Amino acid sequence: MNRLKQYLDTFSFRKYFYVFVGAVAVLCVFTPSFQITEEIKNQFSIQLPQLPLSPGELFVIKSNKGFLTAYSEGKKTSPLNFQKHLFAVSLYQDTALTLHGQFDLKKGHIFSHPKDYYFIKNLKVKYKNKKNKGNKLRLPSSVWKKVNKKEKMALEKIKIKNVFNKEYKFDAKFQWQHPLNSYIVSRFGTSRTLPNGRSYFHSGMDFRAPVGTNIVAAAPGLVVFNEHMTVSGNSIVLYHGHQIFTRYMHLSEFKVANGDIVNQGDVIGLSGQTGRVEGPHLHYELIWNGLSISPEQGLKVLSQL
Ligand SMILES: [Zn+2]
Repeated sequence: MNRLKQYLDTFSFRKYFYVFVGAVAVLCVFTPSFQITEEIKNQFSIQLPQLPLSPGELFVIKSNKGFLTAYSEGKKTSPLNFQKHLFAVSLYQDTALTLHGQFDLKKGHIFSHPKDYYFIKNLKVKYKNKKNKGNKLRLPSSVWKKVNKKEKMALEKIKIKNVFNKEYKFDAKFQWQHPLNSYIVSRFGTSRTLPNGRSYFHSGMDFRAPVGTNIVAAAPGLVVFNEHMTVSGNSIVLYHGHQIFTRYMHLSEFKVANGDIVNQGDVIGLSGQTGRVEGPHLHYELIWNGLSISPEQGLKVLSQL
């Protein structure tokens, strides 16, 4: 030990050390540093959807070169391929979104360098009418009594959030249809008021459906949830890949189990009037990354991919 200490203390060791530090410093100064010039920036362009966006809108962001990641409001976009990403606006967003992204210069096919180039875009969102102007739900008092349970609902909210946040291994080509060919009794985004005065926006679309009507999978998917919930009644959630889910509520019967893989058009359950309902119907939802999106608008976007 002492000999080692002696050696380290010698003048010659210190000399080599200073030479080494000096060499590193000289290298740092003379290595050409990489700079993102205006010319490089101009080679990257990003194509956004038409603005303003609507609350609950699903959209595709395209780039002429590749980009690695983009995110907004704490959510990451879903890459469809290197140049195309999927993103959505929350139903409750009514001002603007700031989209942050990162181009990949390595795969941008210009040259190779580890540094990436960032972009920031402001996306205007259409102003939405205040939610407390909604129609009052005419819930039978027996139904309201059964579903007006705050603590239970709070727990279920966490449970379903976890379903949407989990990662699944499933990817199929998107082919879409409505889960039922029937009259639409209530569209996405309409505002509603509960008997206790609480208001919200309708997170899906309602189809007229007498109890026992066949409900089919809107697209090929993986069954990730089928349980009874206080508000949504007997509900099924399917995963379709790229953080896209569909949800079917108020069912009377389940025809699938968790982990089943279904094809588009397969019967997954029978419609009913379970949960918080005025009467029998099917409530159908399209969800991206936990955000409810307009099934009608979203399906148009997804079918064009
Ligand atoms: Zn509904």
